[in-house]
Amino acid sequence: MQTTSPPSLRSLSDYHVHTPLCRHATGWPTEFAERAVALGLDELGFADHNPMPEPFDDWRMLLEELPRYLEEVEKARAAYPQLAIRIGLECDYLERREGWIEKLAGMTKWDFFIGSVHYLNEGWEVDHPKYVGRHAGQAEEIWASYWRTYERCIRSGLFDFVAHPDLPKKFGFRPEGDLRRFYDGSITALAETGIAFEINTAGLRKDCRELYPAREFVQAAQQAGVPLLINSDSHAVDELGAGFAEAVALAKSCGYTATARFAAHKISFVPLP
Ligand SMILES: [Zn+2]
Ligand SMILES: [Zn+2]
Repeated sequence: MQTTSPPSLRSLSDYHVHTPLCRHATGWPTEFAERAVALGLDELGFADHNPMPEPFDDWRMLLEELPRYLEEVEKARAAYPQLAIRIGLECDYLERREGWIEKLAGMTKWDFFIGSVHYLNEGWEVDHPKYVGRHAGQAEEIWASYWRTYERCIRSGLFDFVAHPDLPKKFGFRPEGDLRRFYDGSITALAETGIAFEINTAGLRKDCRELYPAREFVQAAQQAGVPLLINSDSHAVDELGAGFAEAVALAKSCGYTATARFAAHKISFVPLP
């Protein structure tokens, strides 16, 4: 494991980090904080999958585990006081369940909420490996459904930024032609609401072998003045800050000069390295 501090990470934050409470990640907040300090990251943010009021699926914390989540992040803050540690949730946007996100927002002092679309309106997870067989030959329909919901997620006003914009490409299936036709509605929604998006480096580790989102999305977002974050979507300690050099290079080549931070839902900006 690399323990030196690459200069490219020094002014960066990583706000999309999971914990074992979601049942598909390893590494407790204190372990991530140790790694963040070793990497020289400026800020660390936790964003585990949001609990639901009822048993819902097998990849998120239960509601009664929320206090443990807050406690584990407090432990990391106490162990690494030199590191700014933010706390949020990666919230699944589900139509007609917006009231639940509002309730969650009032449960503690969050720094940020990430809005994600994993569930299509048709009721299945677009990124779940158990459904990979549904993608072949269906990319056009799946992308249309996904981006409709993604735009609603942005316009819900529930979130500080939205996650992994072109997630349906995860397994390598993409519709034919210029994909900007899918991005346009969401870019407009981001510009109109002032909500940010992330470049998520997890795509580099998936079959699509590409950052989320594609260059054309980043270019259009930059032209529309949409704020940007760079996050790893870590589900293990050694993924923290992974792929950040590629993400910074993409952001800069599209004209971005800064990344966004959040504290108590208030946005600020830090120049890109
Ligand atoms: Zn996850
Ligand atoms: Zn996600």
